Amino acid sequence: MIDTHAHLNTEEFKDDLDACILRAIEHNIEHIIVIGMDEASNQRAIEIAESYDFVYASVGIHPGFVDQGNTEHLSNLLKHPKVVAIGECGLDFYWTKENIEKQKDIFIKQIELAVESKYPLVIHTRNSFTEAYDLIKPYQGKVTGVFHCFSSNVDDAKKAIDLGFYIGIDGPVTYKKALETFELVKNIDLKHLLIETDSPYLAPVPFRGKRNEPSYVRFVAEKIAEIKEVSLAEVIKQTSLNAKMLFNIGGNL
Ligand SMILES: [Zn+2]
Repeated sequence: MIDTHAHLNTEEFKDDLDACILRAIEHNIEHIIVIGMDEASNQRAIEIAESYDFVYASVGIHPGFVDQGNTEHLSNLLKHPKVVAIGECGLDFYWTKENIEKQKDIFIKQIELAVESKYPLVIHTRNSFTEAYDLIKPYQGKVTGVFHCFSSNVDDAKKAIDLGFYIGIDGPVTYKKALETFELVKNIDLKHLLIETDSPYLAPVPFRGKRNEPSYVRFVAEKIAEIKEVSLAEVIKQTSLNAKMLFNIGGNL
C-alpha cells in the first residue's frame, strides 16, 4: 500500500515519528508521501524524506497558508531528488472566503509551476471544487495530479478524471454517514483512485477521533474493497500502480 498523503511534518508526530514509520513498514506500507503546506513544513517534509528511503515529499502552499506564504521558494525545492509533487495547494472556501483572490493567485502560480516542471499537483478543495476545476481547465493536457480527500459527488469526480486527475480516498470513506463517498467509490473505476490517510487528521474507523497515521491506510483500502466487491489485493495492486505512475516513484514499472 502507498499512503499518498501524510502530514508527518506536523507537531503531532514530533515525539514518535520513528515508531510511526516502523508501524507503517510492519503493515506493508511500501511508500509514504509527506505533504508540505507552507515553507517550514515543506522543508520538514524534505528532511523526513531524506531520513527514510521509502518516503517522498510534496511541497506547496496550502490555501490555509496563503496569507503568510508565497510560492517563490518552491522551484528550488523541486530540484531535490526526493520531491515528487507540488502541493498541498488549492482552494478552501469552508474556512474563509475573505481571501479568495489571494487563494486563486497562489493556486494558479502552483498550477503554472506544475506545467513548467512536469510535477503532479496535490490539490485540496473544500466547498470549492467548481472554482478549482475552472482554474485548472485551461491547462488541461499539460498538468496532472490528484484531487486529494475528494469530497464532492460522482459527476465532479468524472470531471476531475477527464482533466487527467486521480481521486484521493481517505478515512471518511469508513464513516457511517459518508454516503456520497460510498457512491463515489462504487461508481469510479479503481484505476482512477489513490488511497491516503491525511495523517494526523481524519483517522478511519476504528480509530476515528484519534491521531491518524500511515499504517491506517489499510482501513481505507479494506473499505474500498468491500464497497467495490473486489479483493483487498486487487485494491492494493491497482492503487499502488496508480500512485507509482502519478508520482513516478518506486523504480521501473
Ligand atoms: Zn492534507
